[in-house]
Amino acid sequence: MLDEVADGVWVRQSEWVRSNAVVVRGDGGLIVVDPGIDGSDLSELADDVERLGPPVVAGFSTHPHWDHLLWHSRFGDVPRYATAAGAQSASEVRERAQAMAAGSATGIPLELIGILTPAPADGGPIPGEIIEHQAHCTGHAAVLLADRGVLIAGDMLSDVLIPLLDPRQPGQVDAYEEALDRLGAVAEHVNVVVPGHGAVAQGAEVMARLDADRAYLDALRRGEEPVDARLDQDWLSGPHQSNVEMARQSGE
Ligand SMILES: [Zn+2]
Repeated sequence: MLDEVADGVWVRQSEWVRSNAVVVRGDGGLIVVDPGIDGSDLSELADDVERLGPPVVAGFSTHPHWDHLLWHSRFGDVPRYATAAGAQSASEVRERAQAMAAGSATGIPLELIGILTPAPADGGPIPGEIIEHQAHCTGHAAVLLADRGVLIAGDMLSDVLIPLLDPRQPGQVDAYEEALDRLGAVAEHVNVVVPGHGAVAQGAEVMARLDADRAYLDALRRGEEPVDARLDQDWLSGPHQSNVEMARQSGE
């Protein structure tokens, strides 16, 4: 079911890690951002999108991890955009992303995974502003819809995911803090944050999400164990240990 979180911005959440697919009304039609996750989710999303009426004119992928690289033929053969670095990385990791998708969920059209084009400099049909940064993974972007007070955040500002540093890039603690500063600088225009996973944040919760991610990184920097309710989820202990290790190395 699509939930309209702001004027012309709808969210559908999947059960798998509470992934959020986002549908945005643009000038020429609808933009589908990070559709997921399994085949039944994708076809239900396609039903919901059809009911909205306007055609899908483009897709957008916030970053080249498999759960943000999916598509379904019912959304149409339209350009699927990402940052230039994101599109490049998606083509490099495509086979691995297909294998991870096949191992994690059923009914995903594997042949459509990760076929992305760099978004034009003016964003093309993607409304708002694409905010590219170096946190979490190469080519990650948020989309700011300032006129609607919405930030589509990708895998940041989540209430279920801790900040996940990219083991493939050096200096990730700094990069993550810089990215949070950039998102923080636009947060005054934002009433609604749609994270890639977890609950949509509204009102005061927007700043609380920024504060929670900053507090987690501050603790890593000091070499302390973060006090963070998200860490109650057992499956995050591996990624957390990897973050701790990266922070330790960058502090040496
Ligand atoms: Zn994700």
